[in-house]
Amino acid sequence: MAVHIVGSINIDIITSLDRLPLPGETVLADATARLPGGKGANQAVAAARMGAQTRMIGAVGDGDAGRWMVQRLAADDIDVSGVETLAGEETGTAYIAVDAEGENQIIVVSGANARLKAPAPVNEGVLLSQLEVPVAALLPVFAQSKAVRILNTAPALSEAKALFEHVDILVLNEHELGVYVPSDSGTVDCEDYIVRARRLLAREDQAVVVTLGANGAIAVRKDRHRHVAAVPVIPVDTIGAGDCFCGALAALLDEGRCLEDALSCASAAAALCTLGQGAAPSMPTRAAVLDLLS
Ligand code: ADP
Repeated sequence: MAVHIVGSINIDIITSLDRLPLPGETVLADATARLPGGKGANQAVAAARMGAQTRMIGAVGDGDAGRWMVQRLAADDIDVSGVETLAGEETGTAYIAVDAEGENQIIVVSGANARLKAPAPVNEGVLLSQLEVPVAALLPVFAQSKAVRILNTAPALSEAKALFEHVDILVLNEHELGVYVPSDSGTVDCEDYIVRARRLLAREDQAVVVTLGANGAIAVRKDRHRHVAAVPVIPVDTIGAGDCFCGALAALLDEGRCLEDALSCASAAAALCTLGQGAAPSMPTRAAVLDLLS
């Protein structure tokens, strides 16, 4: 079996500043760092390091950035035969400025990600996507695939609701849940998350997973739920934790583990991801996750 990821491939250009510029202002920085990024690519690295045979389906431009990203994915043993190189397009690029307090400003140029065409249906293993590629490209593959279909609704987009009936497991964080189902109780607690997550269920056999940062994650079905606490860590940088959770979860489901059983392990992987800087570079190996859980 395999994890098939249809998603974004970006290059992240990160600059550290004492403070972020105001509109119209220029501030000087010392250097930039270039890191692999894009939710699709990050989740592919997480799934592959968890031990899954992983296939990336996406698009890059025909310049150096695209070649570099494809090489980085291949170096993690990810099958890149489904990554198209589009002539004349630019590879997706996130320009990230981070100030001394860790506050950031991010501009994402979608580039080739926005040109991704609908891939062929996936009929084995797990299909995993996010919302940094066009919903129009995801709709046919989700509607026609027989694989276990996981959609990470990040970033939250209202037009993505058309996909929900074709999904087996939705994964979203507290913020994204608030966009799709705002809280009307005023008290945001576990019970409130469960009630709101249930409103997203489009079919009786679906599940919704809400990730809660340092409070862990809850898997919610029509008639039951399971909450797992986060593994206590002192995070260095939580960028990519959600992507790590999704990639690891997909790998565990591909092995035949049930959702409720896979939650603790995906949560441990995501906790380890917060201990390193950046997204893809800090995805943990399966051995590190099993070590943490032992
Ligand atoms: P996102 O990165 O999409 O905002 P979350 O912040 O909910 O998503 O994090 C995803 C998962 O990462 C959580 O469910 C949890 O398992 C893990 N995680 C995130 N932050 C922490 C933390 N501070 N301590 C331990 N685990 C964390």
